[in-house]
Amino acid sequence: MQFRSTQSQTPLVSFKDVVLRCLPPDEGLYVPAQMTDMRQFFLHMDAKTTYPEVVATMAPALIQGELNPLSANRVVESAFSFEPELTRLDDKISLLSLYNGPTGVFKDFGIAFLAAVMEELLKNSGPAMVLSASRGSVGTSLAHAFRGRKGIHSVVLYPSGPIHGLDSASFVTNGGNMIPIQITGTFDDCQRLIVEAIEDRPFAERYGITSANAINLGRLLPQCFYYFYAFVKIKDSLRGDLVFSVPCGNFGNLIAGLYAWEFGMPVKGYIAAMNANDAFGDYIRGKRFVPRPVVPTNSPSLDVGLPSNYKRLAAFYEESPAVMRNMVYPASIGDERTFATIGRVWKKYGVLLDPHGAVAFAAAEDLTASQEFSGHVHTVVLATGHPAKRAALVSQAIGRDIEIPPRLAQLQRQVDPIAIIKPELEALEGAIASCF
Ligand SMILES: *Cc1c(COP(=O)(O)O)cnc(C)c1O
Repeated sequence: MQFRSTQSQTPLVSFKDVVLRCLPPDEGLYVPAQMTDMRQFFLHMDAKTTYPEVVATMAPALIQGELNPLSANRVVESAFSFEPELTRLDDKISLLSLYNGPTGVFKDFGIAFLAAVMEELLKNSGPAMVLSASRGSVGTSLAHAFRGRKGIHSVVLYPSGPIHGLDSASFVTNGGNMIPIQITGTFDDCQRLIVEAIEDRPFAERYGITSANAINLGRLLPQCFYYFYAFVKIKDSLRGDLVFSVPCGNFGNLIAGLYAWEFGMPVKGYIAAMNANDAFGDYIRGKRFVPRPVVPTNSPSLDVGLPSNYKRLAAFYEESPAVMRNMVYPASIGDERTFATIGRVWKKYGVLLDPHGAVAFAAAEDLTASQEFSGHVHTVVLATGHPAKRAALVSQAIGRDIEIPPRLAQLQRQVDPIAIIKPELEALEGAIASCF
């Protein structure tokens, strides 16, 4: 498969280039240029197929010519010490838990694959340096995924404020490959500095700089694998149509689902589950997109004004608006309903949801109850975050304390960066150079 920018049909670029450049030079985003038909692979898989098997089979087929089956096996082995988990709750609804990774959010899946595949693709070329911006636990996920990768240094930029969940033994100053740097500024400053560093050609070339931020297609494409996995697990017991309910913030997860469908996974559609910040629902319904100010909610990862994947989604709608309107169903669930859903799902099924999963769950219930769909769809709800990451809210919703796994408790540990610098390119380049 080859790739192109959302802004033009050419040039076509390889997966390696997509991963190592991250962004095309024309302000677009990389997307698949052709679709690979994966249907034949589903025939040979069933409920007994494991997640590593799904990825090791699908990845070399998707990234054909660049990742052979042997390399794919190595990637899978070194990327995934955790797996998605599909739980059938009843005839109408299943839960796909994606929070079993090191930081308890689904983003671990894309980051882990990206880091492992990057190491594999770089085997016969020079070293690389991956610049990323972090708030929340993304930095920890990057630290886990890139730790000890041969030929790769991982620079994580943090905005002002405390930094949590890193292990200083992995820092470059202690013989590791991690370079955490604090910027005395905002998250946006961190992102701007990354773009500036990429655009400073002599500097970027000296260190082989790329980025592992959320819009790198190398993070998004592997999210297809857990949709494939869910389908493979459920297909033989499925009566009626399959729908996925996806909590949407920057719409990366939804787009990965749409790619899975384009690659031949049989699915009726996707619920784009939003909270009160649902301005993007209008766009999905065919109206003009008018951004609205973001309001804070209890599902903060969905509090997004302009989704960073907007251009990727728009590319789908420009190509076939009618098809998309039959495929993507926008929904908006408020805080009260989210809270009540956590309590109710716990009572009814004995299952804990985090607020993001609860938004998707409530949206799925509405769809299954609607006239159009009632009786003949099975909905798989994506549980994107570990309930213990929102322990206070979840405990309140179910009326008792919940347990926090040690690996998530560790994320609270505070650490010092190896440098604190002004939000200026010169300062960043100086800090990086002083590590070598
Ligand atoms: C990031 C995140 C989301 C939103 O995913 P997008 O791909 O940005 O739409 C949903 N839930 C949780 C827990 C997240 O961390």
